[in-house]
Amino acid sequence: MPRRLESGRPRERKEGTIDMRERLRRLREAMRERGLDGLVLAAPEHMSNAQVRYLTGFSGSSSYLVVSADGAWLLTDFRYVEAAGAGADGYEVVQHGRPYLSTLADVVANAGIRRAGFEDERLPVAMFRQWREHMPQVEWVGAQELMQELRLVKDAGEIAAIRRAAHLAGQALEELLPTAPGRTERALAVALEHRMRELGLDAPGFDTIVASGERGSLPHARPGERVIGPGDMVTVDFGGLSDGYRSDETVTFGVGQVPARLREIFDLVHEAQAAGIASVRPGVRASEVDRACRRIIEAAGYGDRFGHGAGHGVGLDIHERPFAAREPEEGKDDVLRPGMTITVEPGIYLPGVGGARVEDTLVVTEDGSERLTVVPKAWRTV
Ligand code: ZN
Ligand code: ZN
Repeated sequence: MPRRLESGRPRERKEGTIDMRERLRRLREAMRERGLDGLVLAAPEHMSNAQVRYLTGFSGSSSYLVVSADGAWLLTDFRYVEAAGAGADGYEVVQHGRPYLSTLADVVANAGIRRAGFEDERLPVAMFRQWREHMPQVEWVGAQELMQELRLVKDAGEIAAIRRAAHLAGQALEELLPTAPGRTERALAVALEHRMRELGLDAPGFDTIVASGERGSLPHARPGERVIGPGDMVTVDFGGLSDGYRSDETVTFGVGQVPARLREIFDLVHEAQAAGIASVRPGVRASEVDRACRRIIEAAGYGDRFGHGAGHGVGLDIHERPFAAREPEEGKDDVLRPGMTITVEPGIYLPGVGGARVEDTLVVTEDGSERLTVVPKAWRTV
């Protein structure tokens, strides 16, 4: 997010910088299409601020956003007012009292908003009840999809942030992989997350998954006290966080000689991932990426051991549209377009035996895709 040098002076536009006014323009267009004259977003302390951050560049931990056809307001408390003023291009910054609700109701009333979109999949029910009570003139319309669609195609600045997250997370992994034998899963995860921060990332992109030996059959294993040792196949699912954007990748590797059956499922997963990556290009539905991976795993007889979708979008959230699902919900099977991100992450999980998953984060390009994650996924042992 470029910083304004001086208030009132036009901001320098560089290629790849994030233009919040353009995002606001696209938001208003989407509101008009849905017959909304307002949008109200909540990002208090306990909720994700991804939507507010996307629209304003403001990354404080508590805020509310009101957008009408011709006005836009960012409400925050005294801790953040100054920072918000410097970041939120196109928004009027309003300091709210405690509780925030009367300030929010005043802004919405003064803006003349009668039909407002809100995040129906995320807004806590208690908060929604209060909004209805304090703003009885407003008709509330679920608009979760609107926000998700706005964020589907990433601009150059967003891709650059994901690329940086992937690059530094990958570097941390490469440094630590040779040290895995003899460490517990938990120690490896902690060291990896620590090294990511040392290298300049803001945080891990999500809680690191390390699953070794028979625990490899748990796709979302919490790293435990199991010591990584000879004969283990180990899965590490990790990513970085840079400027609010995340990377996501999974490496599966062996310690010394691993059992033939495990090596066999790794090879299948690796082949399935290559097929999935080859299928990513503009015009293809996300579910077709799942099918490209699944075909290979099913043909080898492991179809029922690949129990999750083959991929998902990555950005401000670790899981966002498009979703490469096996059986997509009605209207939720996005057609890929240049600038969308998608992971490709087939896996095979054998209870009591182990598992393998290989994952990269890609960006869709004009004629295919480009890998944003940098760690090689071919078989290796340490
Ligand atoms: Zn992952
Ligand atoms: Zn993933």
